[in-house]
Amino acid sequence: MPSVDTTIQLIQIHEQPGHTPASTCSSALADAPWNFDATPTYGPGASLEDPIPSTAPRQPGLPSEYRNASPAELDLRIRAAKAALREKLVILGHFYQRDEVIQYADFVGDSFQLANAARTRPNAEAIVFCGVHFMAETADMLSRPDQAVILPNLAAGCSMADMADLDSVTDCWEQLDEILGQELTPDGRQQVIPVTYMNSSAALKAFCGERGGVVCTSSNAAQVLTWAFERGQRVLFFPDQHLGRNTAKAMGIPLDLMPVWNPNLPLGGNTPEALRSARVLLWHGYCSVHKRFTVEQIAYARQRHPGVHVIVHPECPMPVVDAADSAGSTDFIVKAIAAAPAGSTFAIGTEINLVQRLASQYPQHTIFCLDSIICPCSTMYRIHPGYLAWVLEALERGEILNRISVPESIAVPARLALETMLKLSPRPQTPA
Ligand code: SF4
Repeated sequence: MPSVDTTIQLIQIHEQPGHTPASTCSSALADAPWNFDATPTYGPGASLEDPIPSTAPRQPGLPSEYRNASPAELDLRIRAAKAALREKLVILGHFYQRDEVIQYADFVGDSFQLANAARTRPNAEAIVFCGVHFMAETADMLSRPDQAVILPNLAAGCSMADMADLDSVTDCWEQLDEILGQELTPDGRQQVIPVTYMNSSAALKAFCGERGGVVCTSSNAAQVLTWAFERGQRVLFFPDQHLGRNTAKAMGIPLDLMPVWNPNLPLGGNTPEALRSARVLLWHGYCSVHKRFTVEQIAYARQRHPGVHVIVHPECPMPVVDAADSAGSTDFIVKAIAAAPAGSTFAIGTEINLVQRLASQYPQHTIFCLDSIICPCSTMYRIHPGYLAWVLEALERGEILNRISVPESIAVPARLALETMLKLSPRPQTPA
């Protein structure tokens, strides 16, 4: 199976018209992710230029025995630890995780599927989440208190989730209160319902739970918005403006009723009138990986592969979603490819690890990434087999490293928002 490590080496060669060398990725992350754990940026990759908040968790150094171990040695050590821990351990791997790590996962899926999958292993005392920080928080809130959720590298955050913090969302809420008031509408609905994407901190999920709001995923965003409009005149949607805009537009909401809230500007950069007439207030956040996809890339794919089916994730900008043949969550993309007749051609606009894995799993199709200058999610990429071996061998010794533990004061209201979402769209887990 091809590895993204190889792909990162290749991006220097396979440049695409319209890209400058500055838009390529560096292979430094593939060589030694631990070199970036303490840096103030997300490191080489698609989120390189996004500022990292000073409060984001940092990973203390990885012991040299893991940094210096060969891939073969790490493989032996991980397999030995897994065999020793048996049913006391469950390893979850996100779709976007590198193959060198995914090979050890008991379940592979999106963040929501994985949080649910953990519930199906009642004997597991440790849940090792090979994803990013907000996913591990969600798994902790949905698992039993005696189950330890472990993130192998604490520097595996999410640049999009970090674009909305509790202080700035609370400040936005207070400004909206001043403009809109707190009175219910004549038909008994709230002025604003807060909706947070799963890709957000537990504190923001709790914020929603405390204010009659809800969590959504890219699979159920339309159902969640429908639910929210039954209870409120407007929705404050954070942190991903693109998922919010693409979903609301598909529901028929005009773009001029979807102002963007920039947390660095008074009233988010809007007039009071625009806020009063708004139906969806979109937080100024985005995914660095998905914003790389462009309409030009789609035109290029169609020119080179007549008949290609272009399928993109709804975290892509609206013009890209509009130009694609279809758009949907990672689960939607996986299912669309599984159901296609042999000989289909797909150009996919989502993270490269998933695209490569699909290309390997379905050799009867032609599957390629829309963006030929491939940047992986640099934070997801922080989970190297060295970190996995480190936390697993510690577990074998009875030591829990990198436990992600959400305080009950946050977990209780956050679960309210999560449980509301669960009731709206119960979904099955995906075994690896
Ligand atoms: S792909 Fe984007 S949204 Fe997903 S974890 Fe990476 S930065 Fe966050």
